[in-house]
Amino acid sequence: DPITRRVLIEEMPGATGKVPQGLKRKGNRILVTGGAGFVGSHLVDRLIGRGDSVIVIDNFFTGRKENLMHHFGNHRFELIRHDVVEPILLEVDQIYHLACPASPVHYKFNPTNVAGTLNMLGLAKRVGARFLLTSTSEVYGDPLQHPQVETYWGNVNPIGVRSCYDEGKRVAETLTMDYHRGAGIEVRIARIFNTYGPRMCIDDGRVVSNFVAQALRKEPMTVYGDGKQTRSFQYVSDLVEGLVRLMESEHIGPFNLGNPGEFTMLQLAEVVQETIDPKARIEFKPNTEDDPHMRKPDITKAKEQLGWEPTVSLRKGLPMMVSDFRQRIFGEQKAFSA
Ligand code: NAD
Ligand code: UDP
Ligand code: UDP
Repeated sequence: DPITRRVLIEEMPGATGKVPQGLKRKGNRILVTGGAGFVGSHLVDRLIGRGDSVIVIDNFFTGRKENLMHHFGNHRFELIRHDVVEPILLEVDQIYHLACPASPVHYKFNPTNVAGTLNMLGLAKRVGARFLLTSTSEVYGDPLQHPQVETYWGNVNPIGVRSCYDEGKRVAETLTMDYHRGAGIEVRIARIFNTYGPRMCIDDGRVVSNFVAQALRKEPMTVYGDGKQTRSFQYVSDLVEGLVRLMESEHIGPFNLGNPGEFTMLQLAEVVQETIDPKARIEFKPNTEDDPHMRKPDITKAKEQLGWEPTVSLRKGLPMMVSDFRQRIFGEQKAFSA
């Protein structure tokens, strides 16, 4: 147990009452896979900030070194370029497993969810680490129950264009529970609903990043289908709080982590107009296959068992993302023209 080990080391002061230099270790050793990505980098900030030692493994498929650059040189931080589909040997107390191409544009044809999750579970088993899987609301597919409760089994097309992600995460949940039941490893499962915020990949095709980038660039916002489909948007700091609380709790989950504030894509476009440019135009495009019609988390379980609920509304969170996007889009343009 990492806590006990820490106490033991700190209780070995010898005759002087002082802990020998180099032996004292404050905080946990934590592995964050996918830590160079959007959510992962915010989580790393939080863990480093509270005194943990953090190892990130990332293959930079969608993540960027820039998201972590402020930790370079910190002796409690390590960044390893590695694909989780390949085995790796590390010694850690906790594993936050985020590595996964998360946008519909990127996640097709990728075995990360299955092979990567298996390796990280194998690692957790070997070193006795606690393992947290970042699953997704997509496990509910095109849900026939609204809002979605954790006990709902979902409505997923197993052979559709999204199934690599949906089914991949469902298998990842299965593997996680099998390693828990079979090998006795401590596991946690979070089902994350649509999350936005600073450091989101600008062009990865997700709706909030698309609308914000389009409005800033004075391009029309592309609404797919009739724009009446709904999503519930969570600000990234709320998610990080939920993930850390879940990891530290005694509950396995799964837990829905999302903001119940539900918006149609047309309403989202309006909020972006209010925030960036009231004259921003909308352009309708054909929708993608198997697009879920509505999605909203029931977060009763997380409220009751983790004492967690989101605090940042879309209207409060969006401006913080917009100023980051503004800087990155126009800063980069300036750098190119210089
Ligand atoms: P992201 O794309 O910004 O981050 C994913 C990170 O994983 C990237 O840094 C990428 O380079 C890395 N990665 C991908 N494949 C890898 C591999 N094979 N080996 C090593 N690294 C790899 O996406 P995000 O939004 O930060 O998502 C993080 C996690 O949260 C994902 O597991 C995702 O499925 C889950 N999630 C996110 C959302 C959301 O709305 N952001 C919603 C549901 C679930
Ligand atoms: N694994 C890893 N790092 C470790 C331990 C295991 O990457 O520290 C990988 C291992 O290569 C295997 C997977 O995790 O592909 C599952 O490991 P486990 O020991 O559960 O299965 P086994 O190797 O017995 O099939
Ligand atoms: N969407 C849209 N315009 C875009 C990108 C996405 O209208 O430029 C829609 C998409 O069809 C879906 C919703 O926004 O109904 C959320 O899509 P996203 O890819 O962000 O997340 P997910 O489908 O995984 O919830």
